[in-house]
Amino acid sequence: MQDENVTIVWFRSDLRLTDNPALTAAIERGAPIVPVFIWAPEEEAPWAPGAASRWWLHQSLSALQQELKRKDSRFILRSGPTQDALEKLIKETGATAVFWNRRYEPAVRKRDDALLSWLESKQITAETFNSALLCEPWTVATKSGKPFRVFTPFWKACLRMPAPEEPLPAPTTIPAPNRFPKSSDLEDFSLEPKIDWAQGLRATWTPGETGAQERIRIFSENALSSYAEGRDRPDREGVSRLSPHLHFGEISPRQIWHLVQNYTALQQDKAELSGCEAFVRQLYWREFAYHLLFHAPHTPERPLREAYADFPWAPDVEMFRAWKQGNTGFPYIDAGMRQLWATGWMHNRVRMAVASFLVKDLLVPWQDGARWFWDTLVDADLANNTLGWQWTAGCGADAAPYFRIFNPMTQGERFDPQGSYVRHWTPEVAGLPDRYVHRPWEATQAIQAQSGVYARQGYAQPLLNHAEARMRALHAYEIMRNK
Ligand code: FAD
Repeated sequence: MQDENVTIVWFRSDLRLTDNPALTAAIERGAPIVPVFIWAPEEEAPWAPGAASRWWLHQSLSALQQELKRKDSRFILRSGPTQDALEKLIKETGATAVFWNRRYEPAVRKRDDALLSWLESKQITAETFNSALLCEPWTVATKSGKPFRVFTPFWKACLRMPAPEEPLPAPTTIPAPNRFPKSSDLEDFSLEPKIDWAQGLRATWTPGETGAQERIRIFSENALSSYAEGRDRPDREGVSRLSPHLHFGEISPRQIWHLVQNYTALQQDKAELSGCEAFVRQLYWREFAYHLLFHAPHTPERPLREAYADFPWAPDVEMFRAWKQGNTGFPYIDAGMRQLWATGWMHNRVRMAVASFLVKDLLVPWQDGARWFWDTLVDADLANNTLGWQWTAGCGADAAPYFRIFNPMTQGERFDPQGSYVRHWTPEVAGLPDRYVHRPWEATQAIQAQSGVYARQGYAQPLLNHAEARMRALHAYEIMRNK
């Protein structure tokens, strides 16, 4: 027997029950609810989730399945095409409404717009909500009504907006229909790798809403107040590591904003307050990334500054491979790339350095680096990844100028002064004295032999001379400018 008026709540990148506006609105509608997830990666092409994201998605869907069960509900999993899946579900349940939270990636927006028109033509109520951003891209504009291209004025405009509303509570129960439609098994989506390379991911992360709450608790108790300095230190636990939880919507920026606000209210100490401010500012970099992606949807593939389309790249397949594998011979770069491979995450400071190394020292197009990150990051996010790569390559909004070329040795010495980060991820150099740990080739042969750098451990010789590579990059930049 079909229920009257069933509401389908279509979960996407909002895999949580707390502060979920689509779910809350569905409950307020007062009818039985069928929570649904539809796996349709081809509809997100060319940016369907990469391997690490798929691993995370599997765990996150599984966690939400358990949470929904606890609320006397069920999570109905189906495969795409999305329209076909929704059509079947509407038929099977007698649903009269479909609610979901908005996404902002170009391919997804196009698909969602088509779905809205189709649902309207079927006289099915379709409502969408904001669950992922503090300031949706169309709510802020420059004085002349244009999208922002510089972070600080964007941020200030966001701060002039009303404070984000209080997060919505998780529902105590979710009204169930008389009979749930059939669900696929999560395993049918084949999200987990066939050959198990995910041990490091499992050891590092707890995907799901509970894991996200635990992560923010640990961060706010241990590192939030010192974030202003701690955020620059890959050798410490100074950042939140909330990025994959935010990407999959296991926690909302609104929840984070209010938590930090409440914490701030208790602080007297100036340094601690500046930690909170610095952290919230980073959340607005994420907002800025979404603003840019929305208003310049071509930027995952093409530079925002058009002149860079003519940049004379000179990629070398072997060098690109060495970068991916963490075998460039520069310990700081290799540590970052190995951390990425092992855990699906890399510290922001190191992301900037490895990206600069690829784009400027190796002259490999930023799009190739962005693709590798896309496949290997558990927090792979089209808005943030595009912003990060275009920023480093100098071709994006508010980007680092092209001639700012990160020096892999001095970056390491500045942000990992005792070398504990590189010693952990690049054990070949672990035995070296501090002063050589970021530049092992400068140690005498006797010291190298004693610490086993090149001999016993077989660490790669540096791929290139950074000073020469820097000159080559600046020359390439001049060629582009003169075109
Ligand atoms: P915290 O320092 O604890 O910051 C809290 C949150 O603020 C982050 O989770 C993130 O959502 C946001 N944030 C912080 N810094 C930035 C930033 N520079 N840009 C945008 N948002 C930010 N971030 C992703 O989430 N996904 C990506 O795919 C991604 N790719 C990147 C690629 C490159 C080349 C670079 C330089 C940066 C990239 N970033 C990306 C941004 C940043 O490195 C990560 O958000 C951050 O390292 C995540 O760690 P965290 O959660 O501990 O950050």
